[in-house]
Amino acid sequence: MKKKFILNLKEELKHEDFIEKNISIPFDSLDLPKEYSNGSKDVEVHLYIIKEKEGYVVSLNINSDIKVECSRCLEPFNMDLTGSNSILFSKKLGKNKELKEKDLYTEYLKDEEHFDINELVREEIIVQTPMKPLCDENCKGICPVCGGNKNENLCNCESKSMKKDSPFSKLQVLLEKKKATK
Ligand SMILES: [Zn+2]
Ligand SMILES: [Zn+2]
Repeated sequence: MKKKFILNLKEELKHEDFIEKNISIPFDSLDLPKEYSNGSKDVEVHLYIIKEKEGYVVSLNINSDIKVECSRCLEPFNMDLTGSNSILFSKKLGKNKELKEKDLYTEYLKDEEHFDINELVREEIIVQTPMKPLCDENCKGICPVCGGNKNENLCNCESKSMKKDSPFSKLQVLLEKKKATK
């Protein structure tokens, strides 16, 4: 079931200068690309919306559990994704001196009465997901020789091929010879 969270900003901020909301959005209702998946946890969203002259400043905080593929060992793993962002949704198109001074990322507010929270959160998850996720900072990756996952099985392929012709190994041989003649 796809749940859509639509806010009527005009109505919600009619008598208020700001509103605060906590929303749990089911991961599946975000229409993320298929490489994004997670367990059963919802995406927790904390929203803070401030009314401005020319639109609304939307600050959001997200917390989600996503499953991604490690860029080194290619194993899928769960990652705790958190992030926050502030965006100015402007009712006006084009340049505006006031907006520039705030130095906020600005987007055009298409429909004040149907503000799409799903779309906002969807974009935020994509932006916050690292380009090269690592299952572990010290992930050993995949062996280019035998193709095995080196986190699970430490093979000797690379050290074997390295020993043969690395300058260091030649030095080692010389040192051993020297030792032997002494
Ligand atoms: Zn890894
Ligand atoms: Zn190997």
